[in-house]
Order: sequence, then C-alpha cells, then structure tokens
Amino acid sequence: MPGYELFGEEEKKEINDVLETGILMRYGFDGPRKGIWKAKELEQAIIKRFGCKYAQLTSSGTSALTTAMAALGIGFGDEVIMPTFTFVASFEAVLSVGAIPVLVDIDETLTLDPAAVRTAITPKTKCIMPVHMCGSMADLDALKQICTEHKLILLEDACQSIGASYKGRSLGTIGDAGTFSFDFVKTITCAEGGVVMTNTEDTYTKADAYTDHGHDHKGVDRGADLHPFIGYNYRISELHAAVGLAQIRKVDTFLDMQKKNYDALRAHLEKIPEVSFREVPEGGVDSCSFVSWFLPTEELTKAFVAEMKEQGILPGNFYWYVNNWHYLSKWDHLKQAATLHNISSDQRSALLKLNETKFTASDAIMSRCISTAISLLWSEEQIKEKGERMAAAINKVLKAQMQHA
Ligand SMILES: *Cc1c(COP(=O)(O)O)cnc(C)c1O
Repeated sequence: MPGYELFGEEEKKEINDVLETGILMRYGFDGPRKGIWKAKELEQAIIKRFGCKYAQLTSSGTSALTTAMAALGIGFGDEVIMPTFTFVASFEAVLSVGAIPVLVDIDETLTLDPAAVRTAITPKTKCIMPVHMCGSMADLDALKQICTEHKLILLEDACQSIGASYKGRSLGTIGDAGTFSFDFVKTITCAEGGVVMTNTEDTYTKADAYTDHGHDHKGVDRGADLHPFIGYNYRISELHAAVGLAQIRKVDTFLDMQKKNYDALRAHLEKIPEVSFREVPEGGVDSCSFVSWFLPTEELTKAFVAEMKEQGILPGNFYWYVNNWHYLSKWDHLKQAATLHNISSDQRSALLKLNETKFTASDAIMSRCISTAISLLWSEEQIKEKGERMAAAINKVLKAQMQHA
C-alpha cells in the first residue's frame, strides 16, 4: 500500500524545485515562483491518470471529505449513510458539516451492503458514502441505482483505494464526487494531503473556493478575490504537492509491484480450502494494497491472531474487528458522542443510539477477517517465507480445532 516505501531522488528533486524559489504556498506570488506550480501540476496529473474532469487538492483526506460534503450541499440535519467498517475520518467529516452519520452493515465486499443501505433510507437521507476499504470497492452500480431512485448524492471515500477501478473507471471518479488521501501510509503520499475529484464544474468551483477561505480566485490578485460563501483553510502546500507529483509519476509502478506481491502471497493462502477471500464486485479491479481473507469462524480467527502474535509475525496482519481505528466495535468516543464542543441534538441522539444498535452482519464478517498489508519492498524469498509461515499458522489452528472437536 505505501508509496513512502519508495521515497527517493524523484521526490527530492521536486521538493528542491520549490526550495529554490522559496515560494511554499500554492497561490499567488506569480513572479517570484518562476513558473513553479506543483499543486496545479499535481491536480492536472490526477485528472489525467484517474480520468475525472476536475481535481481539487486539500490538506488531507479528511478535509477532502469535508470539502466534498460542503460543495455538495450536505449539512445540518442531513443523514449520510456510511459503513461500520471504515477509518474514523469518514464520520469525522460527516459530523464536521453538521450532518448525521448513519452507520449500516457491510457484506463480504468489506464495504456497504446495498440491501442494508435501502433499509436505512429515511426522508432525511441526503447522501450515500461508500468507503472502498483496503483497495477494493462497493457494488457501485447497486448504490447508484439506489441514489437515482431516491435522488441521493453518491460520495465515494476512495482514500484507501487509489488505483483500483470499477467497470473501467477509477474509484473516486464515479460518484458525484470522490476523495483520495495522500497521507503517509497511502498508495501514493504527499506526507499529508488529499484530493476531491468530480466531473461537475459547480462542485469543483465550490471546492476550490471552500478550501481557501471562500476566495473565488477570480481577482487580479489574492487581495481582489471576492467571497461568494464562507470557507476554511484546507490548502495543501507546494512542498507537499511536490512530493505527490513525484509519487504520481510512479503510481503504475507501485500498482504493478503491489499486484505481483499480492498474487504471490495469496497463492499460499489459496492452498488452504478453509480460507476464503474478500468478494470483489463484478467488473472491479482490486488495487492489491491488502489481501483480505476469512477463516470459517471467529474462534479460529482469534486463534490465528494469537498464534501470529506468539511467533512475532503479527505486524502487517490486521484484525480490524478489535482495531481502535477502523471498526465500530471500538469507537467508544463516537458512541459516547465525546466531542469537545456542543453538537446538535440530532447528531447526539444518533450517536448515542449506536450503543443499542446491533450490527450482527458486520460482526459476523469482521470477526473472521484478516487483512494482510502488501509491501512494495518484499523479495520473492520474503513472500515465500511469509506465506509459508502464515499457512503453517492457519493449518495449526485448524488442526487444533479438529482435535478439540
Ligand atoms: C486515510 C483515510 C482517510 C483520511 O485521510 P487523511 O489524509 O489521513 O486525513 C479517510 N478515509 C479513509 C477510509 C482512510 O483510510
């Protein structure tokens, strides 16, 4: 998954271009910057590589989601349907615009279950936000159909799935808007950064101004900009954009390496009949940042995790079910509505209600799921060793269970 593994001369060169002029800001200073516009260049590169009409860089994936919501008019009192399995940033963004996160079950795609989405729709629903977790995607045709029927917005959180596609189109470019994160552990990194992608000019124009205090960017200089609406500062810096520019030029190399290492590791797991794999919707291409796989029961999965821990080879094998960042079961701060400031009573009661809501379908999937992160740096021998050790640990717990039964 991480582009930081291949940080090198290319990134240093791009950063140096910016250091040479000393203009670290993405806007203004037209003379002194001597034609160096890294953020603009990166936006054009994103448009070209991922196939969207418009791209607006931001300071993070989280601020990209917030910006997309604001630009799409999602706000106070609106309900946003999102999955139980995601990163905390997804609900942070919903709450930040005053909207209400409505969590629903996932299926074996590890993303929104379209049937669960249908059940969750109310007159207040404004947006469906699939989160394409761990390199692969939600059933986007099914979700689009629901959006059309109910006149809802489709916002893709593709922060973790840079380079994956669905029916020939890049994830993040299919909905009304979509976002990538370029934080330090994503497929390509800016150190910190994100992007809003859209095919709608109006959404783009709003995102452009929103991320820069509402400045309309139509003045002869920054001081002459007008403010059609209130914005924030979610700008990316030229230094961050410079890193991303070097990284995006290498993205297809990263994806090829990822796929190769993914296939080689997965082959070891495929030999075990009890292991099954995450479902990829028809027409989908996984970015291969993780191999996500299932054991038949929660008990076996916990035994595998314990075995890996004992052998000291747990790192890189994520058991999200008990992870503080990614699954609802551990989001006590969310369920307690533990905010530093007042929130609306609608938001508060929706969050408190999560304590009584059962997500048995999600639990049944996540309690059996392991995601193994794919490194770009593995050698063939390392993959073989990792695959064999993982397979041995799986076989050991399977055998122990059989003896027990
Ligand atoms: C990383 C991530 C984000 C947020 O990205 P940051 O750049 O770290 O703010 C949002 N959603 C998902 C699913 C992510 O993995």
